[in-house]
Amino acid sequence: MSSTLPMINTIYCIGRSYVEHIHELGNAIPDEPLVFLKPNASIVTGDTITLPDYSNDVHHETELVLLIGDNTTITGVTVGLDLTARDVQSIAKQKGLPWTKAKGFKNACWLGTFKPFKEGVYELFLSVNGEIRQHDTTDKMMYSFREVIQYLDGIYGLKKGDIIMTGTPKGVGKLVHGDKLEIKLDDDRYQVSVVQSVGH
Ligand code: MG
Repeated sequence: MSSTLPMINTIYCIGRSYVEHIHELGNAIPDEPLVFLKPNASIVTGDTITLPDYSNDVHHETELVLLIGDNTTITGVTVGLDLTARDVQSIAKQKGLPWTKAKGFKNACWLGTFKPFKEGVYELFLSVNGEIRQHDTTDKMMYSFREVIQYLDGIYGLKKGDIIMTGTPKGVGKLVHGDKLEIKLDDDRYQVSVVQSVGH
């Protein structure tokens, strides 16, 4: 199933917002939200994701995605994958370099279909070839949605059409060519196939 997206402006991503995920990667708990961006061209929808040929370790990060409306309201919500070239990111971390190549490649931002936002707890789910990898609820986030929005708006100034990938719960792992993903947000369900791009 393909989806129709609203006009999307800046893609904000929050890192390290679930404690159990921070522990699984051996990172420190941040004292303020960790923010990075993805280019708009990294967005992909529909039933196929193509992985970049320069990484041998692209990880799935299943995340709740908020769509911002006028005056920093939240108008929409969906599930997304913050795809991460973990090998490239590890080198960038060691060298103190930006994460753009690890987080911003084509197809690095898979999005489901936005639906109206309702206050409450959302359930995120991802299975790969029938094996459950990620299954958690958004009440485990260290920050409330409003705290994240106030933080981003205070520094960067949120605009209508911005989206926020709110961070991944535990269970991140590698994707390879041929993987079949089932991605769910509550009762919304998506099936996606993974393709490894080869050569230049
Ligand atoms: Mg993430």
